[in-house]
Amino acid sequence: MKLIDGRAVAADIIAEVSAAAAELRAAGTDPTLAIVVPTQDEATAWYVRSIERTAAKAGVTSRVEHLTDPDAADIAELLRKLSADPSVHGVICQTPLPDGVLLEEVAAHIDPSKDVDGASPTSLGRLAAGLPTFAPATAAAVLELLHREEVVLTGTRTVVVGRSTVVGKPAALLLLNEHATVTVCHSRTAELAAVCAEADVLVVAVGRPHFVGAEHIKPGAVVIDVGTNPTDDGGLVGDVDPAGAEGRAGSLTPVPGGVGPVTAALLLRHTVAAARG
Ligand code: NAP
Repeated sequence: MKLIDGRAVAADIIAEVSAAAAELRAAGTDPTLAIVVPTQDEATAWYVRSIERTAAKAGVTSRVEHLTDPDAADIAELLRKLSADPSVHGVICQTPLPDGVLLEEVAAHIDPSKDVDGASPTSLGRLAAGLPTFAPATAAAVLELLHREEVVLTGTRTVVVGRSTVVGKPAALLLLNEHATVTVCHSRTAELAAVCAEADVLVVAVGRPHFVGAEHIKPGAVVIDVGTNPTDDGGLVGDVDPAGAEGRAGSLTPVPGGVGPVTAALLLRHTVAAARG
């Protein structure tokens, strides 16, 4: 089984972003990503720091905006303010959000031209319609990795496990836009392992450590593990059990070092594209 090196893919993207950011700066534009952080969550803080580090490497300015105990109106107001700020080119809102606040609702206040994580209903609607838009970065990272691996998607039996608005649904739409034959599974799917085992490409975004084992994997399948599950010792494991995938999958994205680094790199690629206008 081949391990797909997400860090190498991310390094290529960062090099490309870095060149584009330098060009923009020479022309007087400082490409800037604003990150709204509405809750004190350890995993979010870790992710935000990793975006900041990647942005610094790529020559993109990151601006982190913390909110304390905000309600939906506070978050919406900040997203509108950042969207109207000409010195900001990309705006993202980190999850989790405070209880009762829906990303789908607050993200409607991000200007679609700055919605570099494809979170607003407008961006998602355009994605569903097959129109040009920023796709959610994690879903885009799944496709980026498949493209880099030169996986043929047209007509390919593909299964996505997970139907969240941030990962599963947009990944399924992107795959569909590339002519894959897509099945989306979720917590009510019957015979989940048997459905997964029919997939030549299996994308897993569930949020349960080592949920997918050998019985879910068709021999030779390409398996993309989106899951990031913190462990007690401060590490991270995916949704796919690497021991179960070994000897069964053709290739697998590791966790860490698979989808995660590519996601951060794509957010920056999107930010530079937004800054170019
Ligand atoms: P989410 O919103 O909790 O969605 C999880 C999905 O998994 C839901 O659709 C749920 O089904 C499904 N599910 C849960 N238990 C299941 C089961 N027993 N059988 C089948 N399906 C089941 O999570 P998310 O935001 O999509 O994130 C998924 C994972 O990806 C998490 O580990 C998250 O940390 C990770 N993630 C990684 C990145 C990255 O850059 N690498 C970015 C974002 C998220 P229902 O809809 O039926 O409840």
